[in-house]
Formats: sequence, structure tokens, C-alpha cells
Amino acid sequence: MEKRGKEKRLVMEMRGREIGEKKEKEGEEEKEEEEGDDGRKDIFCDIFSFSLCLVSKRHKVEAFEEIRGSTVCPHPASLGGLCVLCGKQEVDGSAVPFGYVLKALKIGSQELARLRRANLKSLLQKKKLYLVLDLDHTLLNSTRFRDISPDEGFLMNQTDSLEDIPKGSLFKLDSMCMLTKLRPFVRTFLKEASDMFEMYIYTMGEQSYALEMARLLDPEEVYFNSKVISQSDCTQRHQKGLDIIMGADNAVVILDDTESVWSKHKENLILMERYHFFASSGRHFGLNYKSLSELSRDEVESEGAVSAILKVLKRVHQSFFNSDNKDNLLGRDVRLSLDMFRSPSELAQGIRTFGSEVLGERLMAEQLGAKCTTECNQSVTHVVSLEAGTDKAHWAWKRGKFLVHPRWIEAENYFWKRQPEEAFELEPPKKP
Ligand SMILES: [Mg+2]
Ligand SMILES: [Zn+2]
Repeated sequence: MEKRGKEKRLVMEMRGREIGEKKEKEGEEEKEEEEGDDGRKDIFCDIFSFSLCLVSKRHKVEAFEEIRGSTVCPHPASLGGLCVLCGKQEVDGSAVPFGYVLKALKIGSQELARLRRANLKSLLQKKKLYLVLDLDHTLLNSTRFRDISPDEGFLMNQTDSLEDIPKGSLFKLDSMCMLTKLRPFVRTFLKEASDMFEMYIYTMGEQSYALEMARLLDPEEVYFNSKVISQSDCTQRHQKGLDIIMGADNAVVILDDTESVWSKHKENLILMERYHFFASSGRHFGLNYKSLSELSRDEVESEGAVSAILKVLKRVHQSFFNSDNKDNLLGRDVRLSLDMFRSPSELAQGIRTFGSEVLGERLMAEQLGAKCTTECNQSVTHVVSLEAGTDKAHWAWKRGKFLVHPRWIEAENYFWKRQPEEAFELEPPKKP
């Protein structure tokens, strides 16, 4: 607390103009102290305690003066293009923008590497890893007022109070002309995940939207603080990258429903089953059936994708920290645990499917370790079909093979667990 306050004052002195002449008193509450000019919280915590570590505990100001006087300033970070230590123009072309922490902040690559190591070390001591969370279709679903279908119009009168966010899950955000529905189980998820992970929000949405969603998910501001990343923070167009996360790649798990934005970090990704609560959401993805909202239904808390993935996260966390391998923690890699849990032996080994003609479905099955065949032969174990009246369905039924809906493959894929066939079996076809 005290250290952080001093660090902040120091930077204030250095870059008073850029960040405003905010005065603060000793012993102020943490929250008040961390509130910046633009209302962003926690500006100097986690990430910013970094470059100021240069100013060691023992000689804060003295060391700073020394560095400032020397000709070899390491230019650890810059604000508005000027080095936070020496005030010179920033020259490190590989400096990474951290605008979500503080406007116009960039951290030099060397300093960033050092900070990542330090941050990881302290996190591992707390037995935690990093978790990067997408918003839309992963943790929640939003729709604009104008896209609300007649069948779901009743929801407008059933929204929860913004005065008591922790108790609600459906919110009307007049300023954004938007309804937002939190995915069932999400509050329990965040609470339990926060014991195992330091968490970030990472969305392709705009900053104002991201912050509003963060407020709904985390009204007490205990999970995310300033760790809310939105579109304008991305360093590459249409791509999300871990370059702007303080975590080291080997300790980051990502939850997202869109694989293509993580092209550099697929090994860290747990692909989420999409949450389509509102009609407009399904329509956007070309789905042609009534939405959960139109059917007045929702995912079941304990059986939905979020609950299933929390179990996966617990296993991943456990395997990372309880590894038989007695090497040091810093050298461990969460991607190996993820890879192990989604390996074919865990999911669909020994399965030969027939009838998964849809390419996405077939790829999914093959990725899970199933062999897909185009011939009805004795080696087939499962026949995948949308309907029971087809030839292949008759064939399966006559030979006592499993006859399952493609949803069975999807469930294996998204729940990371062998799924009971009975729950996805088609009714036996009527005899022709
Ligand atoms: Mg998404
Ligand atoms: Zn400098």
C-alpha cells in the first residue's frame, strides 16, 4: 500500500502534466487512491509497479536521480512518447502499448520481459495462473433494443435492477440501448476461478462496452480492476494477442468462443460453446431455431458449458501445481496440461463414426480422436445423423450401432469429457 503510494507519487512528479495534478493524502482507501482521472481503477497496481521497481525499495528517489543523471537510462516505459525515467523521446520501436492500464503508456520490450518474469514468480507463489476471458457468447450475450424479436419482447419488463447487480443476470442498459444477459453459473465461475487465476477480460468490443460488461460481471471490482482489454488495445487488427497481457505464455489459459482471433495462441485456448440467449445472436451465426429467450428457457446452471469448463480449469490448475515433475515452477507449461486433457485418449479414442458429412463436424470428431469413415462397415461404432428416417440410421439400428445426433460430437468437444450416448441418441427409426 505505502510502497504503491510512493511509486505513484514519483511518477506523478515525473509526468505530472500527462496524468493530471491529482493530489492524494496518506492513508487513503486503496480504491480512492487508485482512481485515475478517467475513472479507470488500479492504474498503478500490478502492471505499473513494474518499471518503478527500478527504483529499489531502499533508495527510491536517490536511485531515480542517479538514473536520470546517467547517460544509460534503460527507458523502461514511456508515457505519451516520453520515457518515464529520463523524459527523453521514446525510441524503443518494440515497446508494447498498455493503454488499458494507463492512457498512452508503453512498456519497453526488455522491461516487459523482466516484469513478466517477476509477475509470474509472485503469481506462482500464490498458486495462481492467468486466465483471459472473452465476453460475448462466452460469459454473456447482449442484444440491441432494435433487434429484440416479438417473441422475446416480454424480457424488457423482466430486467433486474442495476442498483443490485450481484443479484441479477438480465440487465437493461439504456445508455447503450442494449439488453445483456449473463450466462448461467457465471458468478460462481468467476468466484471460484479467481482462487486459481489472475483474470483479464479481453474483448473485440469497444472500450465503453467492455467496461460496462466488467461492471455487471464484477460490481465489487474484485476480479478485474484495470485488466479489461478491448478492441483499441489490440496490437494486430482482428487478432487478440498475449503480447499485451502481463502473463507469460506458459501460464495463460484463454476462454473464447472464437478460435480465429487467437491464431498465435491456439495451444492456450479452451474453445467455448457459444451462448446464444437472444434471437439476434443465433441469427447472426445463421442458426435457424428459436432462441433460449424466445422459448423462455436458459442453460441449466450446473450442466452448462461454463460449469463444465470450470471443472477443466480445476484439473489444469491441479496438474500444473501438483506435477510429478520436480522442476521449478517457472519452467512448467500450462499448454502441456491442456494438451493432455484434450488428447484423444481422454475423449473419443476407439470411436469410428460414419455419417459426419458436415465438414466442421467431421473435423471436430477427428480432432477428438475419432476416425471418420464414409463406408458402412463393421468397424463403425457410431452413426451420426440429424434424423432417424435415413438409410444410414436404419443401418445403424439394424446392427445395434449407436445412432447419435451431431450434438454428441459437439458436447464431447466443448465439455472436455466423454458424453453418454444415451443423452444424444435418436429414437429408433420406424420400420419401413
Ligand atoms: Mg466471443
Ligand atoms: Zn529513459
